[in-house]
Amino acid sequence: MTEKLYYQNPYQTRATAIVNNIIKSKEGYWVTLDKTIFYPEGGGQPFDLGTVNGIELKKVVEKDGDVWHLLADYITGDEVECQLNWPRRFDHMQQHGGQHIISGVADKTFQAATVGFHLSEHYTTVDLAVPQLSSLQIEQLETEVNSIVFANKNIHSYFADAHQLINLPLRKKPSVDQNIRIVEIDKYDYSPCCGTHPQLTGEIGLVKVLKTEKIRGNTRLYIVCGYRALNKFTQDHYLINSLIDLTSANESRLLEAIKRTYHNEKLKHKEINSLTEQLLNYKALELIRLKKDNRVINYIDDNLTGNDIKKLLSLIVKHSPETIVLLAGLKDSPKLAVYNSSDPDLHIGDIFKNIVSRYGGKGGGNKISAQGSCSNVKDTTKIFNDLSQIFIK
Ligand SMILES: [Zn+2]
Repeated sequence: MTEKLYYQNPYQTRATAIVNNIIKSKEGYWVTLDKTIFYPEGGGQPFDLGTVNGIELKKVVEKDGDVWHLLADYITGDEVECQLNWPRRFDHMQQHGGQHIISGVADKTFQAATVGFHLSEHYTTVDLAVPQLSSLQIEQLETEVNSIVFANKNIHSYFADAHQLINLPLRKKPSVDQNIRIVEIDKYDYSPCCGTHPQLTGEIGLVKVLKTEKIRGNTRLYIVCGYRALNKFTQDHYLINSLIDLTSANESRLLEAIKRTYHNEKLKHKEINSLTEQLLNYKALELIRLKKDNRVINYIDDNLTGNDIKKLLSLIVKHSPETIVLLAGLKDSPKLAVYNSSDPDLHIGDIFKNIVSRYGGKGGGNKISAQGSCSNVKDTTKIFNDLSQIFIK
């Protein structure tokens, strides 16, 4: 059984230990020590990182009371020097401590039990057994939680026997039946837990709920505590300052300025659409006026998109339905649209599909009109030449 120094003193960052076992595996070397400062995976809290004799610690797990350390390389000697990655561990202690207070407050204020807790590098979640919480309730929760943080209450951790357990107002039932460790936020919240926590609530720092999510009938809170809350504030502050620079609005008018910009953008978009429509109508009339032999329009434009030529085609057909039309817009990528209602024996969709496929393009349509695309700009003229030979007899 490994002596668990992280329970005796969660602030201990260095220790000398005796090597008990070394087992080689595909992942590296699994090592047990007589005592350890490294917390193994468990209770929603990730395992610690650090070094053993300068060799990188990759994973820590507990099995039957022994703590196994996965090392990247072989260690020599009976005695080893252990060094904990303290900033990472303290971050876990802050998040885990914050979770206890949130769970305690949610239980007392909303009768919402905690049914899940997950702490990872990027986020921490607490799942509460309540279908939803309003933003007002979240605010109430945050205020109460932070008041407990600022009250700087003691956080006690101790092992309790069966007799002591009867007299403790536990928030949840223990998941094991012996060696039950209780984490108590000074006479406020009692919870069985195997993780590491700070000794005072003040060390947890600010606790903030970032968002909530409904999940399987419960409410999931995404939380940040301590340095994570500071980092989040720094990032958000940078974002706000960047938006202030961009809009030249002061902070109190920022939202209004962004809303106004979006609104103006929409109006401009509408105006551009209306002007494009007018321009295409003039273009249609001009093409009709200039058409060859009074029968055919064959027109390729670098600045028109696929949507533009569809509109242009419908405008030409509207004004002059007997015209044979071959249109291509080359903006973005070559897009083609054709129309011919003059020969009832032809199926324009099938003919078009057949010809564009010869040039690696694709498309199709109905008896009198078709649309499609090809990948090479030069092929546009060739496709129109092939079509003209069939359309114009
Ligand atoms: Zn805990």
